Amino acid sequence: MPRWDWLIVGAGFTGAVLAERIASQLDQSVLVIDRRGHIAGNAYDSPENGLLVHRYGPHIFHTNSERVWTYLSRFTTWRPYFHHVLGMVDGRHVPIPFNLNSILALFPPRMADRLCETLVDRFGFGQKVPILKLRAEADSELRFLADYVYANVFEGYTLKQWGMRPEDLAPSVTARVPVFVSRDDRYFQDRYQAMPRDGYTALFKRLLDHPRITVELNTEYKDAAPAVRHDRTVFTGPIDEFFDFAEGPLPYRSIRFERRREARTDGLPVGTVNYPNEFDFTRISDQRHLSGRPDAEPLLITEYPEPYTLGVNEPYYPIPSTATADLLNRYLTTAATLEGRVFFAGRLGDYAYYNMDQACARALALFEKRIAPLAAGGLAACQTERNLIAFSG
Ligand SMILES: Cc1cc2nc3c(=O)[nH]c(=O)nc-3n(C[C@H](O)[C@H](O)[C@H](O)COP(=O)(O)OP(=O)(O)OC[C@H]3O[C@@H](n4cnc5c(N)ncnc54)[C@H](O)[C@@H]3O)c2cc1C
Repeated sequence: MPRWDWLIVGAGFTGAVLAERIASQLDQSVLVIDRRGHIAGNAYDSPENGLLVHRYGPHIFHTNSERVWTYLSRFTTWRPYFHHVLGMVDGRHVPIPFNLNSILALFPPRMADRLCETLVDRFGFGQKVPILKLRAEADSELRFLADYVYANVFEGYTLKQWGMRPEDLAPSVTARVPVFVSRDDRYFQDRYQAMPRDGYTALFKRLLDHPRITVELNTEYKDAAPAVRHDRTVFTGPIDEFFDFAEGPLPYRSIRFERRREARTDGLPVGTVNYPNEFDFTRISDQRHLSGRPDAEPLLITEYPEPYTLGVNEPYYPIPSTATADLLNRYLTTAATLEGRVFFAGRLGDYAYYNMDQACARALALFEKRIAPLAAGGLAACQTERNLIAFSG
């Protein structure tokens, strides 16, 4: 039976980047397993009717990290893509994040001009203001705007998406979609915004295409680990599941994705339309835009957020909040005792709300700061051992 230097659990961004680094930089053998029947984790896409369909919801690559961009560019070329999101507010489609154009579209002209001016004067043009910060403003016009945006854009969406009110989530979550004092209608403003030209799955195939890497799909960690001879583990699944929920379960949010082909309609005008107030779903995305094929037949994916239940659906989102910080810390403390033998990383392994570039950056940093030095230490130890043998011989 073969012996592996590393067992990596999860073939998403975190697991695949670490496998590539360990194999190519340390020349060590890696077995990557995933309980799903495909690589690429939540970024998985597959061709259908000329589109690249994102099975787990729209995935737009965006980053300010030149390092991550340069690293991933070795495994893919890119198609520039600027994601646009509209929100259905008071019966109109307005840009999300809520910005100066949204104000101009929703309020009577003189009132809209005054609100825009007050916002620019208070925060400066181009600034992003978290909604909870805007709500704390004393100025009566800003308070009016803040209450309007809170009630019409944030409150209902957050309740549907998280099952919680904005105030009960970690501020980092609500700050992800700020009020934007700008007329830039793009959803992201990062320096690099693009889609892998041949899709994410093709990018992952290239990441994992190394003679020292073996991939086994439909393989559950708990079933496989006892039979797989390996020295060290990287675990990118849920950290509480690894420890058999010894401290209690961490909360996650799941989503049900519903797909519809719309041969007889024009589809959506942009990549995604949000519904903060109406219906049970949060948003609909049109895969034509994500695939760069606005001429193709629309393929709509609707997202219904739902509670996560082990064995029933997927833990897509950790729910960072002050209420779970202690529980998470207990798991992280136990995890630290395994350092050197088992490493936890990724959106589920770190229990952190990472975007793809952040998962990639975290994997690169883990490799450089912990894994590569460990291997160098191992080599040094081997050499010392060899020298001792030589002396004693
Ligand atoms: C609906 C949605 C939309 C998103 N949109 C964007 C976006 O537009 N832009 C962006 O940058 N990010 C987006 N993200 C976030 C992105 O998906 C994550 O940043 C990224 O997938 C994290 O990679 P990961 O490797 O840490 O985790 P994952 O991709 O979740 O990979 C973990 C893998 O581990 C496997 N696994 C877990 N437990 C076990 C086990 N016990 N045994 C075997 N295998 C196991 C899982 O099957 C999974 O394949 C989105 C996420 C969701 C849910």
